[in-house]
Amino acid sequence: MGMRFCILGSGSEGNCALLETDAARLLVDAGFSARRLAHLLAGMGESLGRIDAIFLTHEHGDHAAGISGLSGHPQIKIFANHATAHAVQAGLKYRPNWQIFETGTRFRFRDLEIESFAVPHDAHDPVAFVFSHGRGDLLSPRRRLAWLTDLGHAPLHVREHIRDADVLVLEANHCPQMLKADGKRPWSVKQRISGRHGHLSNDSARELLDAIASPRWRHVFLAHLSRECNSLAAVEQSCAGILSSLHCPFSIVAPGGGTPFHEC
Ligand SMILES: [Zn+2]
Ligand SMILES: [Zn+2]
Repeated sequence: MGMRFCILGSGSEGNCALLETDAARLLVDAGFSARRLAHLLAGMGESLGRIDAIFLTHEHGDHAAGISGLSGHPQIKIFANHATAHAVQAGLKYRPNWQIFETGTRFRFRDLEIESFAVPHDAHDPVAFVFSHGRGDLLSPRRRLAWLTDLGHAPLHVREHIRDADVLVLEANHCPQMLKADGKRPWSVKQRISGRHGHLSNDSARELLDAIASPRWRHVFLAHLSRECNSLAAVEQSCAGILSSLHCPFSIVAPGGGTPFHEC
């Protein structure tokens, strides 16, 4: 097996993905209760007892809420930078097996190489990840999976990571018109969401894909759609124009939904 992943759930209510290789089985974020995580994993034939590690992008509840229920799984190593671990630990009644990395560094976990890099978002030290796997020969091609949810905009270093990915998971959080029309969120929250340290709108995600349109991409996923301020139809409409310039399959993950396993 090379590297494969499935999104267990994605959206404003919670985010978690399962990433597997021959030697590692890990979660990217754990934004659901432990009970829900167990249920979602069971749906893919997996269980929390078989998870080796969780990689946290930042401390927001829709990415880290599940950690509080994992005291019974001490085998799970929790990878996070110091600020994220500190923020999550403040809400915990136990001490997980923290594995602290420094933002911007590259390190190995079993047969994976992981790069973390800073993204502009309103958390303590939010990061995105690139997971690389494979020796780089015919039998074991090198594959890079870039994971970018929760970012207000994409600075140059972020664009470089996006360009070099084989598989890209990118946020398309909200439709600006639906966010504007939303009656529940106060103005200040809307400003935060749409700001430079908030979330990518459908239009920002499209512009980014359009500007980079890397020939290296093998599959692009748009994820972390807001349930109330976005829809599959809104993303499809916003991205309709770029489908011809992307030379790879393109999937939109429904708000709250997931994906089947995808080989990188
Ligand atoms: Zn966030
Ligand atoms: Zn989020």
